[in-house]
Amino acid sequence: MPRAAHGEDTGAAPRPEPVREPIREPVPEPVHEPAAGSGPGPAMDPVGDPVRDPWRAPMRYALAEADLAALAGDVPVGAVVLAPDGSVLATGHNEREATGDPTAHAEVLALRRAAAATGEWRLTGCTLVVTLEPCVMCAGALVQARVERVVFGAFDEKAGATGSLWDLVRDRRLNHRPEVIHGVLEAECSAQLTAFFRTR
Ligand SMILES: [Zn+2]
Repeated sequence: MPRAAHGEDTGAAPRPEPVREPIREPVPEPVHEPAAGSGPGPAMDPVGDPVRDPWRAPMRYALAEADLAALAGDVPVGAVVLAPDGSVLATGHNEREATGDPTAHAEVLALRRAAAATGEWRLTGCTLVVTLEPCVMCAGALVQARVERVVFGAFDEKAGATGSLWDLVRDRRLNHRPEVIHGVLEAECSAQLTAFFRTR
């Protein structure tokens, strides 16, 4: 009987049985809070994802950047390079069609701009956030730039080089291996690409 009262007896007469208090203490309040109280999103992950959640905001930025690519007829891929303090250093979107440049992928353009902004080819401590899993060329560029972390949204099963088809950035033969966080706003990133190809 006394145990059943755990969840809701916060303000209810603790006087008669002070003995019970220590039992109530360890009830994990934080578990209840997000489930009931919060809900920033439409009930997608009520518990929260400590690994991916911090990257949602920059991923939304990358998604907006990807929209610019689609406007010019390019496959919508967008990238953002964040400085170690989290501020935006540079952005890029796929401009292959727009510029006729086979290397004008979002990641490469964003890395070049970030390096130009810092005056350093080494982007130590920086994070690249991109809507689609990087290809071989971009994965190579990420390693060359010594980026600390790669965050991406959708997997590219056909050409991905950070986990899907290859896992270039985590090849143990390399002396620099960025951390990889995948699946941030994955549904949104996939939907953006699907929508683009549907209209073609
Ligand atoms: Zn690429």
